[in-house]
Amino acid sequence: MSERKELLGDVRRVVVKIGTTSLIKDGAVSKDFMDSVADQVSRLREEGRQVLIVTSGAVGIGLKAMGVKPKPKEMPIRQAAASVGQSILMQKWSESFQKHGILVAQILMTFDVYSDRDSANNLNNTVESLLDNSVVPIINENDAVCINEIKFGDNDTLSAIVASRTDSDLLVILSDIDGLYDSNPRENKDAKFIPVVTKIDETVKAMAGGTGSGFGTGGMKTKIEAAMICRDAGCNMIIASSSVYGAVYRTVAGDDVGTLFVSGDEVPKKRRWIKSAHAGGRITIDKGAEKAVLDHKSLLPVGIRKVEGEFKKGEVVDIVCDGAVIAKGSPSYSSKELSAIAGKHSEEIEKILGYRLHADAILSENIALLII
Ligand code: GLU
Repeated sequence: MSERKELLGDVRRVVVKIGTTSLIKDGAVSKDFMDSVADQVSRLREEGRQVLIVTSGAVGIGLKAMGVKPKPKEMPIRQAAASVGQSILMQKWSESFQKHGILVAQILMTFDVYSDRDSANNLNNTVESLLDNSVVPIINENDAVCINEIKFGDNDTLSAIVASRTDSDLLVILSDIDGLYDSNPRENKDAKFIPVVTKIDETVKAMAGGTGSGFGTGGMKTKIEAAMICRDAGCNMIIASSSVYGAVYRTVAGDDVGTLFVSGDEVPKKRRWIKSAHAGGRITIDKGAEKAVLDHKSLLPVGIRKVEGEFKKGEVVDIVCDGAVIAKGSPSYSSKELSAIAGKHSEEIEKILGYRLHADAILSENIALLII
């Protein structure tokens, strides 16, 4: 067995992310490319594998259809373009899969909905049910209604979050670049290709420049961030060029195509969600509490200095010390309750609030560290 096949193992569930630059060729949507993806996905399914697609292209296709130049800065025109482009995009995917008798489903995600735990869990139920019924889920961000501040922002991140949430074994990111190089190959002829990354350290992060294109929003940086999300989910990730013949099928089969980022130890799912969800508030803590949090202990009310924002219990907040966000957490109490018990000993909680759920403001299992 090849080293790549061994590292990948048996891929049961795979997410394939397709970037705008792969879909739009010479100024037009490449139907051949979409047909080829559908063809390969169909073959993977015949082998008993489940496939989800994260597709970009709504904004790019919409701008083209409306005859607007790429990357206009104003949000309204991008959002209008997304709503025009998304339906064209889905129509085309649907046609490509119909040739194989495969039904597709559209899922449009928003960061604020994902940041609500019940809604995030609901997404899982929908995806499981679609896969059980042999439907291919096709996912994009709901660009038409998202506001900049609360956005996944790029589909590299979105696809990694989808892979993490759905417990996928592999994420394949198809791009206009064939993988990771030690420097930007578009600027440096001698850039060396990296076939496998086993640890995402500072050296690897430094290799990711700001490669971008006219229509897409991603670059190597967002792909490395996606690889870190996958790593924590125990999911492998491959970046491969969409122009490599049969790239989807071949990466899943373990051929030496693209750069493989080998998964790491799996972080519990709830903690992964906390880390990736939108923070609806801020809790500033003192040095003693910071030490406890960094030692993977719970956060007690006594260590809280300030509570900002309005949030319900269970919502995600930033945990801040000396002005730096050190962790994110999902508190056992609301912002109002936390403000009332901040700086107080846990024995006083019941007297102040009239009830006590936990002695801790945030349980250790509901804290995800961002530093170290
Ligand atoms: N959601 C965007 C679109 O469909 C693409 C984001 C990205 O390029 O990563 O146009």
